[in-house]
Amino acid sequence: MRFQDKVTVITGGGSGIGAATARLMAREGAKVVVVDLAEAPARAVADEIGGTAITADVADRASVEAFVEAAVDRHGRIDILVNNAGIGCFGRTPDLAPDNWERVIAIDLNAVFYACRAAIPHMTGGKAAIVNTASISGMAGDYGFTAYNAAKAGVINYTRSLAIDHAREGIRVNALCPGLIATPLTAGAKAMPGLEAAWHDTIPMGRAGTPEEMADVIAFLASDAASYVTGAIVVADGGQTAWTGQPN
Ligand code: NAD
Repeated sequence: MRFQDKVTVITGGGSGIGAATARLMAREGAKVVVVDLAEAPARAVADEIGGTAITADVADRASVEAFVEAAVDRHGRIDILVNNAGIGCFGRTPDLAPDNWERVIAIDLNAVFYACRAAIPHMTGGKAAIVNTASISGMAGDYGFTAYNAAKAGVINYTRSLAIDHAREGIRVNALCPGLIATPLTAGAKAMPGLEAAWHDTIPMGRAGTPEEMADVIAFLASDAASYVTGAIVVADGGQTAWTGQPN
């Protein structure tokens, strides 16, 4: 029961990595607030785990401030914030439409700032934690993923700066960089002949990770077991970024 009575807000909690994290942390005692743009999945996860569902668009600052306020109204404080909502976006410059660039930066980067800005004043227990779901795509480039990679790189360095700023207030801030994880976000790869197998070939472990494997890492970073871990960028990618790509 690592999270007994810990008030935990998870964005993108209705699906994939966020839903797996909500389930794991609730099983270990957390009072989970599931935030998602998609109302029905958020409600389904919250009902399953005895948590609270809030429908919000994390790209909208007022919407973020409202879900933070709702969580605090209900529970009095926030102990753990998991900024996990995210979308992908394919597009090479100059073809990438500015609207698409702006939407990805808004959801994948600006939202993390909005949520931290709103939540930090309520994370006063002296043992609070923020975990941001970044990506290995924030550590290197990918063909055609310019906006996504720029946003995730921003999340990584925002995480470091935030960790430094709040270390002495007892707020730890870390980021998870998943590699390829089997969730609805990446399910499209299955529909493209050969893509999934080619992708797996770039991963030394030869497979995608599971949402539950990511939830385990997020939970560790959020837990007291990581009490001296802050500003860390934790990679969980089956060895993908450890490899130069040189054939064996
Ligand atoms: P997912 O699509 O299963 O879940 C993402 C959730 O975020 C969905 O429930 C969606 O409704 C929600 N969401 C999207 N836009 C939102 C908005 N504007 N406001 C509120 N909620 C919104 O995807 P996932 O794979 O679980 O992704 C979770 C995080 O992990 C994302 O930040 C993603 O970039 C990151 N990530 C995923 C992978 C992967 O391979 N799946 C790899 C690296 C990083």
